[in-house]
Amino acid sequence: MDYLALAALLFPDVTETPEDIENKYPRRELPEGAVVTRMAPSPTGFVHLGNLVQGMISERMAHQTGGVLFLRVEDTDAKREVPGAVEVLIESLKHYHIHFDEGATMDGDHGQYGPYRQRQRAAIYHVFAKKLVAEGKAYPCFCTEAELSAIREQQEANKETTGYYGKYAIWRDRSLEDIQAQLAAGNPWVLRFRSEGSIENQFKFDDLVKGKLTITENNIDHVLLKSDGIPTYHFAHAVDDHLMRTTHVVRGDEWLPSLPFHIQLFQALGFKLPKYVHIGPLMKMDGNSKRKLSKRKDPELALTFYKAEGFPVQAMREYLMTVLNSNFEDWRRANPDADIDSFRFSPKKLNPAGSLFDYAKLTDVSKNVISRMSAEEAYDLLLEWATEFDPDFGEKLSADAGYAIRILAIGRGGKKPRKDLATWKEAKPYMGFFYDEYLEAPVFDEKYDKSVIVDVLNRFLETFDPADDSSAWFEKVKAITSAIGFTTDMKAYKADPAAFPGTVADVSTFIRQAVTGKTNSPDLYTVMQILGYECTAARIRDCIAALN
Ligand code: GLU
Repeated sequence: MDYLALAALLFPDVTETPEDIENKYPRRELPEGAVVTRMAPSPTGFVHLGNLVQGMISERMAHQTGGVLFLRVEDTDAKREVPGAVEVLIESLKHYHIHFDEGATMDGDHGQYGPYRQRQRAAIYHVFAKKLVAEGKAYPCFCTEAELSAIREQQEANKETTGYYGKYAIWRDRSLEDIQAQLAAGNPWVLRFRSEGSIENQFKFDDLVKGKLTITENNIDHVLLKSDGIPTYHFAHAVDDHLMRTTHVVRGDEWLPSLPFHIQLFQALGFKLPKYVHIGPLMKMDGNSKRKLSKRKDPELALTFYKAEGFPVQAMREYLMTVLNSNFEDWRRANPDADIDSFRFSPKKLNPAGSLFDYAKLTDVSKNVISRMSAEEAYDLLLEWATEFDPDFGEKLSADAGYAIRILAIGRGGKKPRKDLATWKEAKPYMGFFYDEYLEAPVFDEKYDKSVIVDVLNRFLETFDPADDSSAWFEKVKAITSAIGFTTDMKAYKADPAAFPGTVADVSTFIRQAVTGKTNSPDLYTVMQILGYECTAARIRDCIAALN
């Protein structure tokens, strides 16, 4: 077979050579050890936690080594494409501090290694496809869908591996005349790789996450170009990651079965193989067993979920780093105030089997992160969240920033700040009562006679002085307790509850409920300080009126 003639026949319009293309994609001038990596999403419109995990890993590997992170849009499958998907992805990742140095951006492509959208690269793939044909490493296949199905059925009936290989690869060694006849008839064709591999052969391969793998050679003549001339993922991966000078391919381990073919393809093309970082899936506990997070079953897979719940970006990053690198938590304990980016991330510490996503742990981390913020910082982030997801609350917060900040300052600072909030969504249930419109009517324990509660509230009103410090304030609460025959001696009460009609805790609760509508609230003295005399007294009076 005259492969050069075949190459000319299949790609008459390709005039550029691989060298011409190589010259357009020079080696990158980067420091020793710099990682060049990419995110290469298919624009399907659904941005999930896995994208963020991959983004964080790639971002850290690139930027902690002085390397480059770029975004390449893998839009070869037009059927799956959703308009605006790239923009949504870029925005979502930016929200979590994943910045791309080059590639597809909101306003076109930036960088010297583009175009970064695969459909714009068709001519480039064809140059390398032509080269493979000219070297006898690829050939056209004119099989129809019906023929391919027949092959598959026969293989299934024989209990053989399915695929286009060996004696089933019916176009592998056809004559130039046969091919010419098909082309002349205008029949569609795909370009297939001519695999020289054998499933009898195995070799060792090092993956940065999975460790040493034993790989069986690929013997299938996979498709490189589809009948419309658009490459498959495999071919585009090899050509693009070579030309864009990717040093590390960070991707999901669902690609692991294709790795033997990819290795073979890089070799056939004469390209240096990048390093591979195959990350395991995100899993969750379902009953007693682990399973992959699923788009259908788990709303928490979507990144939009975390934004709507109001998990701060910082909490998400802290939590994910905890999951990704087991030494992160120790590092964080030793460096409580350090920027997360000064932690040295290592792909080798990723769990090869995947990471367990634990919502309760995320909540814990988030509580911690929020508790360490200044009141001003918490206010800014809460306002940003509320403006988008609870505009009414947002308006109240912005109407008097100083007031909201005083509320958010409760329990902050010091060695052991209070951990009241895990998300911004929890802020309204927690502090809404500070705003009259959100104050709920209290529901008192029916065990106590209304007249007792009214008595307590009246007595409190008579003595309430906002100039009191917290101990003077509490002495007054105790005085009321004794005056109505309840006890301030909690020990004695615990020893014999039946001996007392109630305690100082009950008295506090009556007052708390009258002022906040709830049985639980931040420190009541501080609450009253923030509400001020007028508001506190008015609420107590309203409550008395409602009880009478
Ligand atoms: N387009 C592929 C995907 O969406 C990218 C895989 C890769 O990163 O190489 O899964």
